[in-house]
Amino acid sequence: MKKIFSGIQPSGIVTFGNYLGAMKHFVDFQSSYDCMFCIVDQHAITVPQDPVSLRDQKRKLAALYMAVGIDPNKSTIFIQSEVPAHAQMAWIMQCVSYIGELERMTQFKDKSEGKTGVSAGLLTYPPLMAADILLYGTDIVPVGDDQRQHLELTRTLAERFNRQYADIFTLPESKILGRRIMSLQNPEKKMSKSDENAKAFISMLDDEKTITKKIKSAVTDSDPNVRFDEEEKPGISNLLTIYSLLNDQSIEAIEKEYDGKGYGAFKTDLAELAVSVFRPIQKRFYEIYESDEVDNALDAGSDKANEQAQHLLQKAEEAMGLQRS
Ligand code: ATP
Ligand code: MG
Repeated sequence: MKKIFSGIQPSGIVTFGNYLGAMKHFVDFQSSYDCMFCIVDQHAITVPQDPVSLRDQKRKLAALYMAVGIDPNKSTIFIQSEVPAHAQMAWIMQCVSYIGELERMTQFKDKSEGKTGVSAGLLTYPPLMAADILLYGTDIVPVGDDQRQHLELTRTLAERFNRQYADIFTLPESKILGRRIMSLQNPEKKMSKSDENAKAFISMLDDEKTITKKIKSAVTDSDPNVRFDEEEKPGISNLLTIYSLLNDQSIEAIEKEYDGKGYGAFKTDLAELAVSVFRPIQKRFYEIYESDEVDNALDAGSDKANEQAQHLLQKAEEAMGLQRS
């Protein structure tokens, strides 16, 4: 069975972007692939996190994975920092990365721009991500469109290691899922769960009133035609994308339905649709979050991941001369 690896940072509560761009698709992979779904807390600490919130966000993310339908008996759900091999392999990957190629990563530029006290970890985020993926001999990495560049780098690092030391790493294929969902307040920027402005994203745990308010206050243009045009009308185009992905309906069909009706009616219906999709997930979430299912799944997940991760870590250390024999 082919191996899938994908991670989400517990840097907030997962948003529509994470759900539509990644999580929603994970459920379908479970029966045909051996799936590892990782809660990448070591990635999250590349920017400052409140420790109490971080701990809670990890449990919430695990419960959300399960609430959308990931079955811990079929897939492995685990926390990155509970498997020390990730950090060990990340060091190896850092040593085969060039500073110049890390500085060129757009995520690094976006997250460091205008900030003081940028951590070295933010720069070395991609080698850690490469480590996560390569440790398990991953064949396929399903992620959102924003992670394309990091995946290309992962392949470059794997190839470089294989050439310089020993041919041990599988070159992972990326599977880019869905489209990039944009911020509700600045449709030129991607929606991110760590956005300082909570109005920019809809979290999967937002209540009905909040979801409705955020959609109604989403930035759109002054021409009231519900029409898809990413250049001229990025705000409404983003809302059309969200509608279409939530409802499995084509953009053209939605445009036709709202022809002449204006933004108000469209936004009201989008809010209702979003609430109807997330209500059952939220209900399951609270049942799981309040039970011991989460910790049981995470305990079993970290045992499984720790065992699997040893094999390639040892091979990489051996190939580099780190192991004595
Ligand atoms: P952060 O702001 O902390 O980076 P994030 O919202 O970007 O959080 P990640 O944990 O970095 O979320 O990414 C989790 C998954 O969601 C990845 O597969 C990523 O490609 C996908 N993803 C993130 N943002 C979007 C988006 N706006 N549209 C589609 N997919 C997205
Ligand atoms: Mg991100």
